[in-house]
Amino acid sequence: MNDIKHLLNKHSDKIIQIRRDLHQIPETAYTEAKTSTYVADYLKKIGLEVRTGIAKYGVIGSKCFSDSGKTLMFRSELDALPVNEKTDLPFASSHTGAMHACGHDGHMAMVLGAAMVISELSNRLSGRINFVFQPAEEGPGGAKPMIDEGIMDNPKVDYALGCHLWPGVKQGQVGIKAGPLMAAMDRFDLTVKGKGGHGAMPHLCVDALDAGTQIVNALQRIVSRQMNPLSPTVITIGQFKAGTTFNIIPEEAHLSGTTRTFDREIWRSWPDRIETVVKGICDAMGATYSLDYQPGYPVTENDTWMTDEIRYVAESVVGKENVVIPEPTMGGEDMSFFLERSKGCFFFLGVGREEGAPLHSPHFDFSEDVLLTGVEIYCRAAIQLLGCA
Ligand SMILES: [Zn+2]
Ligand SMILES: [Zn+2]
Repeated sequence: MNDIKHLLNKHSDKIIQIRRDLHQIPETAYTEAKTSTYVADYLKKIGLEVRTGIAKYGVIGSKCFSDSGKTLMFRSELDALPVNEKTDLPFASSHTGAMHACGHDGHMAMVLGAAMVISELSNRLSGRINFVFQPAEEGPGGAKPMIDEGIMDNPKVDYALGCHLWPGVKQGQVGIKAGPLMAAMDRFDLTVKGKGGHGAMPHLCVDALDAGTQIVNALQRIVSRQMNPLSPTVITIGQFKAGTTFNIIPEEAHLSGTTRTFDREIWRSWPDRIETVVKGICDAMGATYSLDYQPGYPVTENDTWMTDEIRYVAESVVGKENVVIPEPTMGGEDMSFFLERSKGCFFFLGVGREEGAPLHSPHFDFSEDVLLTGVEIYCRAAIQLLGCA
């Protein structure tokens, strides 16, 4: 096992340099041209078989150890966020309006680092590893389009492993949990149509703004009065646009929001529940509506067996006392699509520090030591799952 430590030391500067190079060139969802090229070039340099242009910018590097055996995939995201970076890092974003504020630069560095180390461990492994880099995790999602292009088949992927740098877990710790870890998330857009007119004459109008406010209130009642409080669920209306000035009754109101839940049945029930409320209020007010409900990501749910395997691996890397069960989060992840297709595990690598900024903050940064921990977990997981007897 010590040769992994040796190889990690040998490649550690490169792994950190990759993170910094990629941090400087952040690209938002489905514009990841430079990032994708950087990753593909690196994989080719290591000598992997590389496929590009999957779901636009998706990249896969494959390493085959033997024709028979299992197939394992490691997954990273390519995309950054539309955030103006406010760190003073010497390698801060050179792209105005974009930043790796969700740590995906670190995720890419870890999966590329694992590819470098594992390429030098080949004689100890059987089967195949796919190093998968997907676009657009921050929405609208690149995992599903890559799966639709067949990346989980021929050969079928048996195990999927991924991680997220996570401020909710302390620096130096690893958070691993079987079962639901992250919520299913959807989006909806609603237009309420009324009849505009003079603010002094409401009886001649149908007030779309007023109908909209009643809808906002009634939608929250679904959570508080219809849902089992032991099954957490959230609805948030993040946008409400109506009106032009103080004395005009608006003809239209535009609302958009998101739902979150860990429960698949609740997840399936959300569109009907929302429509029932919207229709009831619009009918009562004499308004009409159009509702566009867009299913997003399923629940990110870890396989019990695979989670036990990865917990064992993580304990060997950071010590048993530093592997914790993290609190699940209502945040969503399209890693969920990979976990639906294979045994899999998505874990949290702790980057939590007292003074640290949260994910998606223009100040987000992390201690780069964690990248080596992540690479070591990937490499030992490969040996655990694909090791030759
Ligand atoms: Zn994010
Ligand atoms: Zn993220």
